[in-house]
Amino acid sequence: MEHEEFSFETRLLHNRHKMDAQTGAVSVPIQHASTFHQFEIDSFGKYDYARSLNPTREALEDIIAELEGGIRGFAFSSGMAAISTAFLLLSSGDHVVITEDVYGGTYRMVTEVLTRFGIEHTFVDMTDFDQVKQAIRPNTKAFYVETPSNPLLKVTDVQAISQLAKAHNALTFVDNTFLTPALQKPLELGADVVLHSATKFLSGHSDVVAGLAVVKDEALAKRLYFLQNSFGAVLGVQDAWLVMRGLKTLHVRLEQSQKAALQIARFLENHPLIEKVYYPALENHPEKELQEKQASGAGAVLSFELADEDALRTFVSNVKIPVFAVSLGAVESILSYPAKMSHAAMPQAEREKRGIKNSLLRLSVGLEKPEDLMKDFSQALEKLQVNKLS
Ligand SMILES: *Cc1c(COP(=O)(O)O)cnc(C)c1O
Repeated sequence: MEHEEFSFETRLLHNRHKMDAQTGAVSVPIQHASTFHQFEIDSFGKYDYARSLNPTREALEDIIAELEGGIRGFAFSSGMAAISTAFLLLSSGDHVVITEDVYGGTYRMVTEVLTRFGIEHTFVDMTDFDQVKQAIRPNTKAFYVETPSNPLLKVTDVQAISQLAKAHNALTFVDNTFLTPALQKPLELGADVVLHSATKFLSGHSDVVAGLAVVKDEALAKRLYFLQNSFGAVLGVQDAWLVMRGLKTLHVRLEQSQKAALQIARFLENHPLIEKVYYPALENHPEKELQEKQASGAGAVLSFELADEDALRTFVSNVKIPVFAVSLGAVESILSYPAKMSHAAMPQAEREKRGIKNSLLRLSVGLEKPEDLMKDFSQALEKLQVNKLS
């Protein structure tokens, strides 16, 4: 590819779709057409029907494929549509080894939908390689990784899992939503399918729901394309354009948010009213070294525990800056309550087994001045102390 010699930052802006070949337009044109006139009866053009291929969606698919170091990208109507379509690579009788603190929607898909089609699963703590090995069965066809995981920021060795998967003739899926190719490239670490909720950092402005998948193998690309076209959960063109617009600033957004996330993680770690902070760049994070080895940063999401649910309620009702909401990876900081939001689909007993307590909050750091966020958290934590005394 013509821009391959340049850095990731530059390639976010200068890719093969940087200008329209016909008009010179420096933004990808939005092609609304659902169908395309065919000039010959016996040989159709590249585009025939927009579910199968559309030039606007195709541009996004090319761009994400290049950024992830794959050969083909696929854009879907949501992250879950991308993930669910990728699971259709499996068949009845197959088995998946999957990380235990997986995204709540993926948990729901695997436990309540795939099981109805005879696709079995085993949840494991993927940081424990022995557990992963013990979960393998003769019919294991896929390993499903999320790293860092949600919401406890556990780090899985993508290379080790991919090697194990290959040895068992199974595929490795990696949900790369938290880090994006700006910080981590799972295909280069040996994974077969990279998945994204592009709703998060890739688009970055809390204004679009989208999903992406990328593969590096021609045969797998054909199979996934067949499934994308068969299942039909494709991304609309306006939304594809919004993701491309967001992608242009991915690197600066993530760099700034990541810097702020480390400052905030340290601040929370040193605060007497915070019980525990989960962030892979902190000195006491058990997989800090692995994170540094396989990714070029720890990202902009961290989680922390307060003393109990009451303390959490007081804190949440007193913070002023972050929005209190589902989702992450946006220009504004987002404070989430995993037990009632991302992991609400997981029964309480399962959540507790995984260490997702009712006193745990997740913070996705945005682009506010970090000092303002820390000031805000300080005053909210002070309210907690007042509550304790009274
Ligand atoms: C949000 C999210 C998803 C689901 O994506 P949607 O776009 O909401 O369908 C999957 N994985 C992770 C890690 C997420 O954060």
